[in-house]
Amino acid sequence: MNRQNIFKSVVVAAVVAIVGLLAVQVYWFRSAYDVREKQFNDKVNLALRALTNDLLKAEGDTTSTIRPVVMTASNSFYVDLNHTLSYAALDSSLRKTFVRHGLDAPFELTVYDKNRTGIILGNLYLNGAYTTDTATCRSRMAEARIPMDFMITFPDKQTDIVGGMMFWIVSACAFVFILALFAYLVVDLQKQKKLSEIKTDFMNNITHELQTPITNISLASEVLRAGSGRLDEQKAVHYANIIYQENRRLKFQVEQVLQASLFEKGEIALTKKEVNVNSLMEEVIQNFQMRIQNRQGQLRGKLDALQPFVFADEFHLTNIFYSLLDNADKYSPDKPDITVTTINKPHGILIAIADKGIGIRREVQQYIFDKFYRASTGNVHDVKGYGLGLTYVQKIVEAHRGRVSVTSEPQHGSCFELYFENC
Ligand code: ADP
Repeated sequence: MNRQNIFKSVVVAAVVAIVGLLAVQVYWFRSAYDVREKQFNDKVNLALRALTNDLLKAEGDTTSTIRPVVMTASNSFYVDLNHTLSYAALDSSLRKTFVRHGLDAPFELTVYDKNRTGIILGNLYLNGAYTTDTATCRSRMAEARIPMDFMITFPDKQTDIVGGMMFWIVSACAFVFILALFAYLVVDLQKQKKLSEIKTDFMNNITHELQTPITNISLASEVLRAGSGRLDEQKAVHYANIIYQENRRLKFQVEQVLQASLFEKGEIALTKKEVNVNSLMEEVIQNFQMRIQNRQGQLRGKLDALQPFVFADEFHLTNIFYSLLDNADKYSPDKPDITVTTINKPHGILIAIADKGIGIRREVQQYIFDKFYRASTGNVHDVKGYGLGLTYVQKIVEAHRGRVSVTSEPQHGSCFELYFENC
């Protein structure tokens, strides 16, 4: 079993164990609640039986002192008293008996006539509204010389029982907290793992990427050195061009990595001045023309912005234009067909770099600006790169308070748009 599988198995085992523990916790909690509820019900039962006993004795009824207590709901206890009651005796005995039995939960008292046809006291429904106007009820009760039953309801019974289970609640919270920590650790570990994989890929990519221009430069310079004086001018220029191009590429690649690490440290400083976007873009396009023509492609500039001036860092602006054109070329597997446009928008300038290359799937478009992210397999594909170009573009654009966006359709191409305010 490889490390990846071991890690997965450990996580699965831990999740199963946690789910098991959670189930046990829920079961214990439920059982503890049931036990407490039973204790509560028993206490009320005992109290009510003792109460009826005392009441009936006090009223001189010695014939049958045991009266049934029926639970009509989970929080209501109906006492089938069948005896004329005095309010004063019932009220004071109830409170005393409950205290004696350790019951301090708030309760409601309802007194019924024996046949449960009407309420005599308690939640009396009067003139369309419930009332507990005890003065009215008391007098009604005094008047009523009929056999009565009564019912006690504990409206906050559940809350009361749960309130008495503080230990369980605290331990459940602690358990959930530990679970959350565990989940955080697993997610963090996964992230670290992914990052370490990406970094390994990055190292492989960078080694390969830097090796290619270095090899090309060394070959071209070897030829120039060996044939000095004997090479015709056309060939010499061709090799010099290779060295120049590869050296630019090398510089660009090193710059990309350098800028990314500077950004990470928050050390990028912009030196802003008035920059003519049209002229700058024209220059970058010129530098790219040879590369695109070598691939029988087309690179057009429609630099129509009439107000092309922005207050920006020229060096970084050049780099981001270079980055976007580099991508437009890289991700056009056939002959590149690239159009660069500039146009004025209210208060600013819009720069669009559109290609007819491989395009980007909709679901990954949101990730392409992430550091090290590379579409397709996520980090490695046929086209070489570090997944840093667009991160750099976004950071620079944001540092200029601009906006960058992409529209793209797989197999049809992509269009990157930059917006900067005019100065
Ligand atoms: P890199 O090109 O070095 O991989 P970038 O940050 O420049 O890194 O781009 C991130 C990813 O976005 C690329 O790997 C590629 O999949 C996708 N991408 C960027 N530009 C284009 C484009 N013009 N056409 C298609 N895909 C692109």
